[in-house]
Amino acid sequence: MVVREGAGEPGGGVRSGALTLPGFVHDRCSAVHPLVAASPFFRSTPLGDHGLELVDPPAPLAHPLDDGGAVVLERSLAATAAGLGEDARAYERLLGPLVRDWDAVEEAALAPLLRIPRHPVALGRFGLSALRTAGGLARSSFRGERARALLAGCAAHSMIPLERRPSAAFGLVLLALAHRVGWPFPRGGAGEIAKALVAELERLGGRVETGAPVASLAALGSPSLVLCDVGPPALARLAGERLPARYARRLERFRYGPGAFKVDYALDAPIPWTATDCARAGTVHLGGTLAEIAASERAPWRGEHAERPFVLLAQHTLFDPSRAPEGKHTAWAYCHVPNGSGVDMTARIEAQIERFAPGFRERVLARSVTGPAELEAENPNLVGGDLNAGAADLRGLLARPVARPVPYRTPLAGVYLCSASTPPGGGVHGMCGYLAARSALSDAL
Ligand SMILES: Cc1cc2nc3c(=O)[nH]c(=O)nc-3n(C[C@H](O)[C@H](O)[C@H](O)COP(=O)(O)OP(=O)(O)OC[C@H]3O[C@@H](n4cnc5c(N)ncnc54)[C@H](O)[C@@H]3O)c2cc1C
Repeated sequence: MVVREGAGEPGGGVRSGALTLPGFVHDRCSAVHPLVAASPFFRSTPLGDHGLELVDPPAPLAHPLDDGGAVVLERSLAATAAGLGEDARAYERLLGPLVRDWDAVEEAALAPLLRIPRHPVALGRFGLSALRTAGGLARSSFRGERARALLAGCAAHSMIPLERRPSAAFGLVLLALAHRVGWPFPRGGAGEIAKALVAELERLGGRVETGAPVASLAALGSPSLVLCDVGPPALARLAGERLPARYARRLERFRYGPGAFKVDYALDAPIPWTATDCARAGTVHLGGTLAEIAASERAPWRGEHAERPFVLLAQHTLFDPSRAPEGKHTAWAYCHVPNGSGVDMTARIEAQIERFAPGFRERVLARSVTGPAELEAENPNLVGGDLNAGAADLRGLLARPVARPVPYRTPLAGVYLCSASTPPGGGVHGMCGYLAARSALSDAL
């Protein structure tokens, strides 16, 4: 088996390397990996044998607020609930069954939505909340700002407005995963995942050719099986006349969501958080209340740039010193912008960090800025900077890339789509490729 990779190194969304100063290791795309820890594919693949080690920070997430404190998502559900005051019982009621039944719910979260469930009761219970809007679920479940903000921040990973379904599902899944597996990341950088995958591929007799972009399916000759890790419009271009016109048109019309604007920092010292609890967390959500986060996530869908954007920040070096020179640190941060935006959000991202960590700017030794255009130039799958590889609203999840019983199969015999533009969608879980490969195998038998 040969993997043809257009870039100079393998990895796509799981690469790391130098972006700022010598000795600092930055994650070029993905940085936090609960989905690796939770994925049936990764569970079945012995990447530990190839040196992959996941680092589990003491707390998965902190969400600072303007009162100087922070909501902390702890590994323990009870400890998290205890920090939510008046909403402690409500949090336990909402998350308890989901955490308990995760093994049953996993099949819905990490597979196509359109299928007959094996655990209809647990899934039905999950679906009742998950198919709601995050704003609606937060307001009806919780009375206080702390719990509402926590759910809103996790739901904002969907990159859809929090008034749109199923934004609640993203929030619930990420919260449940914090309690089941944590929000870990690889020691040494996200690229360690790609390295271990390549080593496993080679052990199985395959190989990766880098700097080898595929310009058309025809140029591949006639292999018996082709799995395409590309966006739907790119598949239409690669296949050209071979695809039925109607299917090709649907691929070309595939809807993308907002883009990402990312800044990586080399720091002289840890981030000086006002809320000291933030220093226990691998990930920090900067966006204040539910109302503020909702406004920020609505903006890109209106072609606007939030003045106070919701910022997702990871601070790996507090828990993995191998990523920076001794005593120095990194930070990885991004916010959501309109698809393809050319607006520089650096100052707005830094204002949000300063808001909860005054003095942050003085600790910056160097920064590297990557907007939607640069993301797409590095990796053509990131169309307009959309890191979810397609809008993740209900329509975008049900018809991914088009509504078909087996979404990975194309009308061309032996040609399958396996990118994050297929179910279950964006994230480093390997399940799009795994399920596409299983479809191909079952078709071949
Ligand atoms: C800034 C950013 C932050 C993210 N953060 C997280 C996170 O913290 N946690 C998480 O789980 N996920 C995160 N993600 C999402 C995650 O990285 C992606 O969902 C995931 O990598 C998608 O996998 P994929 O295989 O579909 O595509 P990719 O990982 O994008 O890989 C596609 C590969 O195909 C290559 N390619 C494309 N076209 C061709 C061609 N014609 N010929 C040859 N090669 C080609 C590309 O160069 C690329 O290497 C993030 C993404 C970005 C961009």
